[in-house]
Amino acid sequence: MSITPLSTVTLDHRFARELPEMAIAWRAEQAPDARLLVLDEALARELGLDSAGLRSPDGVGLLVGATVPAGATPVAQAYSGHQFGGFSPRLGDGRALLLGELVDADGHVRDLHLKGSGRTPFARGGDGLAAVGPMLREYVLSTAMHALGIPTTRSLAVVATGRTVRREVLLPGAVLARVAGSHLRVGSFQYARATGDVALLRRLADHAISRHHPGAAEAEQPYLALFEAVVTAQASLIARWMLVGFVHGVMNTDNMTISGETIDYGPCAFMEAFDPAAVYSSIDHGGRYAYGNQPLIAEWNLARLAEAVLPLLHDDEEQAVALAMQALGGFRPQYDAAWTAGMRAKLGLSDGVDQKVVSPLVQELLVLLRTDHVDHTSFFRTLAVAGRGDTQPVRRHFVDPAAVDDWVTRWRALGPGTDAMDRVNPLYIPRNHLVEEALTAATDGDLDPFQRLMEAVTAPYDERPGFERYATAAPPDFGAYRTFCGT
Ligand code: AMP
Ligand code: MG
Repeated sequence: MSITPLSTVTLDHRFARELPEMAIAWRAEQAPDARLLVLDEALARELGLDSAGLRSPDGVGLLVGATVPAGATPVAQAYSGHQFGGFSPRLGDGRALLLGELVDADGHVRDLHLKGSGRTPFARGGDGLAAVGPMLREYVLSTAMHALGIPTTRSLAVVATGRTVRREVLLPGAVLARVAGSHLRVGSFQYARATGDVALLRRLADHAISRHHPGAAEAEQPYLALFEAVVTAQASLIARWMLVGFVHGVMNTDNMTISGETIDYGPCAFMEAFDPAAVYSSIDHGGRYAYGNQPLIAEWNLARLAEAVLPLLHDDEEQAVALAMQALGGFRPQYDAAWTAGMRAKLGLSDGVDQKVVSPLVQELLVLLRTDHVDHTSFFRTLAVAGRGDTQPVRRHFVDPAAVDDWVTRWRALGPGTDAMDRVNPLYIPRNHLVEEALTAATDGDLDPFQRLMEAVTAPYDERPGFERYATAAPPDFGAYRTFCGT
């Protein structure tokens, strides 16, 4: 084992220390020819890491798992999960490793984690690997989400391994270095619960409280307060997804965090034509994880979390269930409040406008958008233009422009703040056709389209000349977009 000269990197291994039953010490596979493809220098700074050091051979070794800092104990984490509704008791990190935790510049504990670092004891039939395309996909989508102000795990770097990965075709392999508040999932609690060891479940809950919801420790019932805090964090997160048109694609309980961060960018996509039934994942045949279903699924997943923590809520099961149900009941009102406030902001309407006026207006708008398959993102930017007096761009979204005129007139009468609208409605999102274009080029060794796309989506609200195509919906011949799991 070599010791990193990145002398600032001190990794703790608190998860492994406090929850040894859920951690298997493991090492990354060696990368035959590691080459750094992208590094988020701003994130490196946040973490107190030196970018030049990370670009050096030892730094790249750290980012690909070949170099383990002194004292670090990389582990594969155990978790369970409901996948498309069916329970799998033993999932875990099949191709990922938690390198350890570090303290960022603000004093927060963050996980440093690798994805695509080789088979682990949880790999089952998988090869433990990841390809360049999907890892760059997680990099661009998670970075875009962060730029949009949406809580998310972050991507520090993607390193090409020099290894070939076999999918439908042979692809270049890569490792993603991921940073997260933690990798605790609903599925982590399901795993602890399924062991039958209540002391382990309690230790996991204490760990989660201390890392994410420290206020819960002061509550009369800390574990109930923890559950309530997760409900609140997820209600807010899912509202943010819905407002920006993000479709996660695989909201299994192992892909839902306790922190309230978006995690696991697999078959996800930003919706273009507004449609509650929008599905992008090639394996989601029933539309379980369609855009419009996401709030319901989040609530369903939280019910599974509630079941997992029941033994911590009350000795009497009936009373425990009653407490859990009451707390879970908080999801809908909190989600509705967050979504409603967000929609008002998207429409530039001040608090002074009566909600009784706003609600029907919003409902009517959603019908209009859906009927004409209107591009969700550009609609709100052109609406601001209409608010300033030029209704032509917004009218062009509709087959029968007269149908929207009356709506726009009533909306304008409410005195919308159009500059405020442009600060909450993004112009540039990672549009599916542009993501595909960038990943295809990157897989062939050309990173320029990827870098250009990154430039667009890291400043999503600021209109800039030369970026027009990043604000435009896919051409009709792009067809029905599908993304693939098992990436
Ligand atoms: P996901 O749907 O990507 O969140 O993954 C579900 C489960 O499959 C997790 O336990 C992953 O660690 C595991 N997994 C996904 N891809 C691979 C792979 N290529 N090799 C091993 N395990 C994998
Ligand atoms: Mg996952």
